[in-house]
Amino acid sequence: MKHRIVVLGAGYAGAFAAGNLARRLSPADTEITVVNAVPDFVERMRLHQLAAGRDLTSRRLADVFAGTGVRLRLARVTGIDPERGTVAVTGATGDDELAYDTLLYTLGSSVAHHDVPGVAEFAFDVTGWSSALRLRERLAGLGAGGTVLVVGEGLTGIETATEFAESRPDLSVALAARGELGGRLSPKARRHLRRAFDRLGITVHEHTGIRAVETNRAIAADGHTVPADVTVWSAGFAVHPVAAASGLTVADTGQIVVDHSMRSVSHPDVYAAGDCAYATGGNGRPLPMSCASAGFTNMQATAAIIARLTGSEVPSTGLKYYGNHISLGRRDAIFQMVDRDARSKSWYLGGRAAAHLKSGVLTGAGWGIAHPTFGMPKRRRRLAPTPGRAGVRAVA
Ligand SMILES: Cc1cc2nc3c(=O)[nH]c(=O)nc-3n(C[C@H](O)[C@H](O)[C@H](O)COP(=O)(O)OP(=O)(O)OC[C@H]3O[C@@H](n4cnc5c(N)ncnc54)[C@H](O)[C@@H]3O)c2cc1C
Repeated sequence: MKHRIVVLGAGYAGAFAAGNLARRLSPADTEITVVNAVPDFVERMRLHQLAAGRDLTSRRLADVFAGTGVRLRLARVTGIDPERGTVAVTGATGDDELAYDTLLYTLGSSVAHHDVPGVAEFAFDVTGWSSALRLRERLAGLGAGGTVLVVGEGLTGIETATEFAESRPDLSVALAARGELGGRLSPKARRHLRRAFDRLGITVHEHTGIRAVETNRAIAADGHTVPADVTVWSAGFAVHPVAAASGLTVADTGQIVVDHSMRSVSHPDVYAAGDCAYATGGNGRPLPMSCASAGFTNMQATAAIIARLTGSEVPSTGLKYYGNHISLGRRDAIFQMVDRDARSKSWYLGGRAAAHLKSGVLTGAGWGIAHPTFGMPKRRRRLAPTPGRAGVRAVA
């Protein structure tokens, strides 16, 4: 019987990992299945662009995995039974159960509502394909002078506000920041950011935590109101509840707690990567949810899975976070390096050069997903003699 590897989620971490596994393991004794809720690869890093009216390149996962040996199952994951080694899914043909010997969990994240009243009912977000499309429709129907409030001064909030202000100069765009705009950037990069906001005419409400959202306004913690025909909630990402409900050990965030090899600390035949993994970086801090972290963690997870299945030593990938690369519309950006302790270094790259670099990063990430077995070696590795579910458990 072949060793069944099931990858949950075909986003930046899962799609790349599945291709990598298919590239390195022999199909003679492994069977790789990817489960994804939607038929297309969603370029989440461009969803604020989609909401602003830009059309994104469509990448059908069926085409991405064609000829790789990876089986694609279009279905929504509804539960995991890690004791039995099964995943519950629901799709076009109804409910089903998939059995695995090794599971790689990469279901990513979505918007974090933080239980703020009115967010679920009235706010929009750019964290998923359908929510970004819903926002796109709403913005398209918003006439000149309409007010848009982006809540959150994180990287996604900044990218969203600048993208909207650049593509829709007829709208009045504002951003509510709980702290200071660009507070985590170096002083020079912060000045660059402020200049960009001034140039684009974005109003900034600093030290303004939003405690409620209504149909046409948001209410700040101190009671003052900010007019908003459209409120875009961008106050962080939250992971799906599937992992916590399945009995896997999770952090307060709901992310799966993993060791350095991305293996679940509670269930050795389960691995996690990307936004849903609670992984500690080389500096002893949890890796931030980001595409860069999704890259490092999926590479570490696949390397560990392959090593344990083929009976070789588990290699160690450096889990680093180098910096933040923030688009400020299409012609400007900030690339801010951080030090080992995640503090911004004084040097940053800004302007068109940084925008070109960011554009290259986004294009490269999309291309990598579209060609998941690029550079496939002619000889793929066979499994060690006892690669079954019990055998995998036995390998330290
Ligand atoms: C607008 C925006 C801009 C961003 N910009 C940047 C940036 O510039 N740099 C950066 O590093 N990061 C950025 N990020 C963050 C980055 O997109 C995420 O960190 C990254 O997508 C995480 O990759 P992942 O594979 O863990 O999850 P995802 O890419 O979210 O993939 C998860 C996959 O799982 C699938 N899925 C989810 N739930 C289920 C289910 N129940 N059943 C089946 N399938 C399911 C989804 O359809 C998806 O295919 C941005 C995010 C957003 C929203």
